[in-house]
Amino acid sequence: MTDYVDELNESFTGKTPQEVLLSVLNEFKMDIALASSLGVEDQVLTDMILKIDRNANIFTLDTGRLFPETYSLLDKTNMRYGIKMQVYFPHFNAVEEMVSVNGINLFYESIEKRKLCCHVRKLEPLGRAFRELDAWICGLRREQSVTRQDMKLVEWDKTNNLIKINPLIDWTEQQVWDYVRRHNVPYNPLHDNDFPSIGCQPCTRAVKKGDDIRSGRWWWEDPEHKECGLHK
Ligand code: SF4
Repeated sequence: MTDYVDELNESFTGKTPQEVLLSVLNEFKMDIALASSLGVEDQVLTDMILKIDRNANIFTLDTGRLFPETYSLLDKTNMRYGIKMQVYFPHFNAVEEMVSVNGINLFYESIEKRKLCCHVRKLEPLGRAFRELDAWICGLRREQSVTRQDMKLVEWDKTNNLIKINPLIDWTEQQVWDYVRRHNVPYNPLHDNDFPSIGCQPCTRAVKKGDDIRSGRWWWEDPEHKECGLHK
């Protein structure tokens, strides 16, 4: 598989995100999906993908702890593109058990408990969403954080046994916002209020000008731990 991933990386050298998307949507057909967090990068990819194929697979996860603005954006995106984005939820019994043992805001107590919450509310539903897929698309950019410096455009996702495509890996924040304005892409208004990276409400806060883009996520943890397990 690593040879195939290397081949894809080589063939995509110098290609635009749209060219990469056109190629992988043709290659993997219905066995590829965009896993959208509804963050601005994923909104850009949603716009690009739906302009190539209106029936492409796009899904999101509702952890049950999202910002009200994120739910509004989901609705707005569906209306804007005339789609019904698939939404995966955590198993209610797993959430009930976790909360009854550890409390509703367990994630502030330790990294282990935060990871447990991310597992129950994000990773397990994501695993279900990934069944039947061969590849997934996500909106990671290399400059987003210290944990993303070594990522490539195409990677082998060992955890999920899937090919992972990061079409915006080399894009700057400026390029993302230029695209949003040029194409009138709907985005979360929290981005205009110093929330460059938006996750669950209790685990995301605004950042100061010039701070690391992801410093508002799990702000009480060391930068090296700031992933929920989706992007190992
Ligand atoms: Fe739980 Fe926070 Fe992870 Fe959301 S980001 S799943 S609330 S720990």
